[in-house]
Amino acid sequence: MSFKSLGLSEPLLKAVSKKGYETPSPIQVKAIPSILEGKDILASAQTGTGKTAGFTLPLLHLLSKKPIQKHRPIRALILTPTRELAAQVHANVKEYSEFLNIRSTVIFGGVNQKPQVARLRQGIDVLVATPGRLIDLENQGELSLKRIEILVLDEADRMLDMGFLRDIERIMKLMPDRRQNLMFSATFSKDIKKLAYSILNKPVQVEATPENTAVEVIQQKVYRVAKGKKTGLIIKLISEGNWKQVLVFTRTKHGANKLCKKMISAGITAAAIHGNKSQGARTKALAGFKSNSVRVLVATDIAARGLDIPLLPHVINFELPNVSEDYVHRIGRTGRAGASGEAISLVSADETTYLKGIEKLIDMKIEVEIIEGFEPDPNASTVPIKPGQNRNRQSRGRHSGQRNSGNSKNSNRNRSRRRNDNRG
Ligand code: AMP
Repeated sequence: MSFKSLGLSEPLLKAVSKKGYETPSPIQVKAIPSILEGKDILASAQTGTGKTAGFTLPLLHLLSKKPIQKHRPIRALILTPTRELAAQVHANVKEYSEFLNIRSTVIFGGVNQKPQVARLRQGIDVLVATPGRLIDLENQGELSLKRIEILVLDEADRMLDMGFLRDIERIMKLMPDRRQNLMFSATFSKDIKKLAYSILNKPVQVEATPENTAVEVIQQKVYRVAKGKKTGLIIKLISEGNWKQVLVFTRTKHGANKLCKKMISAGITAAAIHGNKSQGARTKALAGFKSNSVRVLVATDIAARGLDIPLLPHVINFELPNVSEDYVHRIGRTGRAGASGEAISLVSADETTYLKGIEKLIDMKIEVEIIEGFEPDPNASTVPIKPGQNRNRQSRGRHSGQRNSGNSKNSNRNRSRRRNDNRG
């Protein structure tokens, strides 16, 4: 199977070949022809499957086949849950549209809106956006969605997890009813199905799983350890193992910062990525990690979701997630594309219940080891930390550039965003 046989135009084939892709991935093979036929799509696909090109290439093909209008109304909207994913998707849109007369931009909160508004005013064909900033700028009359022809909801499940349902519903009302809808989600809960039912019109269902991210092919290990000795153990593992690129998960933003500082004091280059970090800091951290100048990236679940970081040899759960499914998402970051991967979890007594929940979900027992000098505390309580217990203590921080409008239309959104802030 070749990209050409999928029916994409020459300028797109040229861009794909410039990216070095030789054959389309399974999701691309399945989704591109149906999208080119104008059909709605409901796709089950995680990051790492090539889903972004799967919707972006046919979207650009369809837009470029129609004559460009003088005032360049926004004709395609790609909604993403996080700023990082928005920036990443837009970088892809730019690359794939290099040989086309298509203009695109990205808008998200947490940064000054002025440059975003300036670009919108120049006329844009494809807009990549997070829900909050999109609604803000629409309210201000800086953009209109009345001429949208194609809507993409990327990582729809995460959007619902982050409390964006109301925002999505509001955004739907700003668009014409006649449009093509492409919805991507890694999981299909009842809520996602309900949302899909309300948005999609006779969708073609497409499924793809990322290569080699099946739980069985990832080497998983648990180190039982006293809570207070976790930092010492993680530093020992990274230093003695001479690990170069390690993604570490913490449950809270505060925990991510604290661990990051301790790593740096121990001479390990580290950066934290979470919801309270400014956009600039997050982009810098990710770029440093990708270019190997940062050895350890400490992330919370939401911040890490959707990040395109290929081929990670080591993922460490500094703390287990209290939602078992998040464990599977986390360890899916290792062992990509046939490379061997190791997922390590540091588990203290109070996380025993979480470990049991995870083992039940993945239907296997994870190998347990204890390292001399880092033994678990035999007197520690096995009562789990309540979800959100630490989180509520955290300050709100600078986030999404939101003001408190006090306006009831916005208060729901602010409420849901606060929920999101507290999660990372
Ligand atoms: P995504 O799932 O969209 O985040 O894509 C995951 C990674 O796969 C990105 O680094 C893409 O650049 C890359 N990719 C997408 N499509 C292909 C392809 N057909 N061949 C090789 N790499 C691809």
